Amino acid sequence: FVRFQNVQKSYDGETLVVKNLQLDIAKGEFLTLLGPSGSGKTTCLMMLAGFESPTHGEIMLDGHPIHNVPPHKRGIGMVFQNYALFPHMTVTENVGYPLKVRGIGRNEMARRVDRALTMVELGHLGGRRPAQLSGGQQQRVALARALVFEPALVLLDEPLGALDKNLREQMQYELKHIHATLGVTMVYVTHDQTEALTMSDRIAVFDDGIIQQLDEPSTLYEEPSNAFVAQFIGENN
Ligand code: ATP
Repeated sequence: FVRFQNVQKSYDGETLVVKNLQLDIAKGEFLTLLGPSGSGKTTCLMMLAGFESPTHGEIMLDGHPIHNVPPHKRGIGMVFQNYALFPHMTVTENVGYPLKVRGIGRNEMARRVDRALTMVELGHLGGRRPAQLSGGQQQRVALARALVFEPALVLLDEPLGALDKNLREQMQYELKHIHATLGVTMVYVTHDQTEALTMSDRIAVFDDGIIQQLDEPSTLYEEPSNAFVAQFIGENN
């Protein structure tokens, strides 16, 4: 479904922050990019979303190269750690925004926004503005906004990083539920081993712009392929 083919990225023309990446992501998969800060995870998401271009190599979506497809035409939903909601818009307007820019009519928009807000259990707060919501609620709005146009692929960059532990665990559970219900492909970035191990179908362990190992959580845990993976997966567990 998604293929990174010999993808390299350098921001300064010298240092490679992503080195010759080969990665296939299956349709419907929950794939996590796990690794320490600066290992290149976010850069991979940005290239997939279209906000950065690979210095070398190609990214394919559904068998087609996407380097000439602008971000808004890639059909990809995105959720970031800092929500990035529009402060002057209500919850309903925030969630409806991706439909508005796609020219969806008012009735259809209302129906889809309603469904997305119900999915994240925020149907009752549509009239509020982001500042009137808790962190967890704001993140649900961001999630509803990413899902509202029914993308086949959703990218999530540390979406739960700003939440406290209890809320984070609850949101992990809800995210997995939404993933299973919609059958949508999710690519998830985190540096939290426990989160990756609980949520993922597969985990790509990044270090220094290279995937050190790509496997199911149980395999990573039981058969780490090198010392870095063993140590990184073992931390906090
Ligand atoms: P984190 O978890 O801290 O976000 P990461 O694994 O997602 O880390 P990236 O954000 O992809 O890593 O960063 C990889 C490297 O690229 C880092 O050394 C970073 O400083 C550098 N980098 C990232 N974005 C840019 C940019 N826009 N311009 C220049 N350098 C960048």
